[in-house]
Amino acid sequence: MVHSDVWKDLTVELSAKRVQLVAVSKTKPVADIEALYELGQRDFAENYVQELLDKQQVLPNDIKWHFTGHLQSNKVKQIAPFVHLVHAVDSFKLLQEIDKQGRNNNRTIDVLLQLHIADEATKFGMDEKEIIETLDRVAANEAMQNVRICGLMGMATNSDNEHKVRSEFARLYSVFKNLSQSYFIKKEYFSIISMGMSGDYKLAVEEGSTMVRIGSLLFGER
Ligand SMILES: *Cc1c(COP(=O)(O)O)cnc(C)c1O
Repeated sequence: MVHSDVWKDLTVELSAKRVQLVAVSKTKPVADIEALYELGQRDFAENYVQELLDKQQVLPNDIKWHFTGHLQSNKVKQIAPFVHLVHAVDSFKLLQEIDKQGRNNNRTIDVLLQLHIADEATKFGMDEKEIIETLDRVAANEAMQNVRICGLMGMATNSDNEHKVRSEFARLYSVFKNLSQSYFIKKEYFSIISMGMSGDYKLAVEEGSTMVRIGSLLFGER
């Protein structure tokens, strides 16, 4: 079941702050996505390639599909024709594969690099040093014309400690600012800070998020 009232309030709250709402629909039925689509939501995110393909086939063409899961290189090919934004790129190898599949599909695929900001070792992502190494390799590789790095994504520790969560988001913001002023000077497309989920999006917005990924608040618990 979809929480339409929550969607309406969130849309008003976030658009006033120029923060984009991505509805995370993983594990939820097509009918729930249709219900939010009817209200006007167009950006949806999935975490599993097969589930995304199944849904994309039966849902309207103007949906912007975000991929927020951990993407394996060997599956890039399947979503490359249509994916709107890949949020969690965590290696140069994956970036190369996205570039290659972008080229095969005659398009440029937008991506975010995932910065590891949480305590938990289980959360994917690169540390700042790895991101910089990755950007150096991209800069040295002029052939990569079919992938475009549009910003950063991160997931905070799943914790009630507001101070801790806030400082993790603040770190993501500060790394984003540093990169904007070094690798991405005058690159206006480098503009996305994807941080904040159902439990912590308010803190994320206060710390400079430009895009929140909300699942359970909209669709109910998974
Ligand atoms: C599932 C998921 C979300 C949404 O989580 P909720 O707590 O349900 O809002 C956001 N981002 C990522 C990367 C996810 O995997």
